[in-house]
Amino acid sequence: MGDTNTQTPLLTVRNLSKRFPGVQALDGVSLDVYPGEVHVLMGENGAGKSTLMKILAGVYHADGGDIELDGTPIKPTTPLEAMDLGITLINQELGVATNLTVAENVFMGSEPHRWGIIDRKFMSEKTQEVLDKLGAPFDPDTPTATLKVAEQQQVDIARALVHNSRVLIMDEPTAALSEREIDKLFDRIKALREQGLAIVYISHRLAEVAVIADRVSVLRDGQYIGTVTGDDMDKNTIVSMMVGRSLEDFYEHEVSDTKTDRFLVVKDMADGKRVRGVSFQAAAGEILGISGLVGSGRSELARLIFGADKGISGEVWVDGEQMHIRSPLDAINSGIGYVPEERKSEGLFLQMSSQENIVMNVMQQKARFGILDRSDNDSITAEAIRQLNIKLASPRTPAVSLSGGNQQKLLLARWLQIKPRVLILDEPTRGVDVGAKSEIYRLIGEIAQQGVAVVFISSELPEVVGLAQRVLVMREGRIMADITDKDRINQETIMAYATGVREPDYAFTA
Ligand code: ADP
Ligand code: MG
Repeated sequence: MGDTNTQTPLLTVRNLSKRFPGVQALDGVSLDVYPGEVHVLMGENGAGKSTLMKILAGVYHADGGDIELDGTPIKPTTPLEAMDLGITLINQELGVATNLTVAENVFMGSEPHRWGIIDRKFMSEKTQEVLDKLGAPFDPDTPTATLKVAEQQQVDIARALVHNSRVLIMDEPTAALSEREIDKLFDRIKALREQGLAIVYISHRLAEVAVIADRVSVLRDGQYIGTVTGDDMDKNTIVSMMVGRSLEDFYEHEVSDTKTDRFLVVKDMADGKRVRGVSFQAAAGEILGISGLVGSGRSELARLIFGADKGISGEVWVDGEQMHIRSPLDAINSGIGYVPEERKSEGLFLQMSSQENIVMNVMQQKARFGILDRSDNDSITAEAIRQLNIKLASPRTPAVSLSGGNQQKLLLARWLQIKPRVLILDEPTRGVDVGAKSEIYRLIGEIAQQGVAVVFISSELPEVVGLAQRVLVMREGRIMADITDKDRINQETIMAYATGVREPDYAFTA
């Protein structure tokens, strides 16, 4: 890499802002990217990394700010336009069109014409030329459906090269790759850097920084925190840049005095894929945080406990009794509630009324004993709306028209009706505005106070630190640590276990 002090940036981002309903995803972000560098962009989940890159690549449009490529202001409105300008985003969401061949993908949307017809010969030759450069083991006529993920990624890179992209953005490119494939990808990235391309590489794996990064920039809460290079790219510096906020007093709640250890016991839970033998216990009246990076297996673990997915091993005990959970209904009947991460696609019935969303589970449960009449429904709903302070026009208002925070409260209300003994919450404050967040924290505290074992999965470290009385840290499908000491429940310690900077320190005795 050249000396950035004497070079002019290839790409300059100034004061970029982007708001989504309820969240300021980017808040005045500025960044310089130089030719011939691998610029790693890091940040916690939700920091704004993908949003920034999608704006550069014409997928989203900024609310404010400027982008310059080679000194020329640009405002790409589509990915194809960005690509023609010289910026290509490679991520799994965009991906390749699997019904097309490699060459068709490479030229999709910009097919070369000769005398009014698509010039397949040119497409094929040009694609072959680039595939050769990349050392790709397939040819232009290969149907992309037959390619592995790593190979489809090469098609994306080939497309960028055919379009003469000078800035290549890769959003978590190694997430689905094997070790061997990752090594190959890194070689390929280094070769592209030699050719003077700028690679913007998004990751939250610290281990990758040492191997690939020339410089590292960090985003946090939609803000640019800083850029480090050389010796400053050490793990501790980067971790503290990623997590360094302090919001502790935001989470004030009383600690429950009704704790009974080993109220929930999970033994040797595994699915043969993402969860690799997890055992832990939680006390009644406790808020047990489960932390870890995305992909560490937290949500998969929750789904296994709840019977939403089928595991290959595992036992669940509640209050000394083994529960045989083969389906969510078994879990509900065992007193286990679960609010999934994907509130909109899994939890809520968006077109149904708020009332129907609230009484759904209790109706199912009561249906075994008799019919719940209309006035029961009305009073349950009225009480829940009051207790959880749900803001809506009427109980008949469809769930879809409520704000994120109030939707989340609907789900909590639904689960509270069945009087759970264990409540698993997966990212309960994602996409929820700050006011509703603090109310949800208060509710979680109250639920625990009543003697429920609350299992609280969250990617937002400050809220885990603030809310949980104990924190389990997961990494690659296993528990790395059980942090019980209040002094050690902090973001640095959690991140150190989550990223593997610290050796695992956990043993469960049944
Ligand atoms: P990262 O890639 O760093 O994990 P993102 O850029 O994906 O973060 O998200 C930043 C914030 O913007 C998060 O709070 C996320 O929930 C929100 N967000 C991202 N995309 C959308 C969207 N399409 N609609 C609403 N909110 C979004
Ligand atoms: Mg992202």
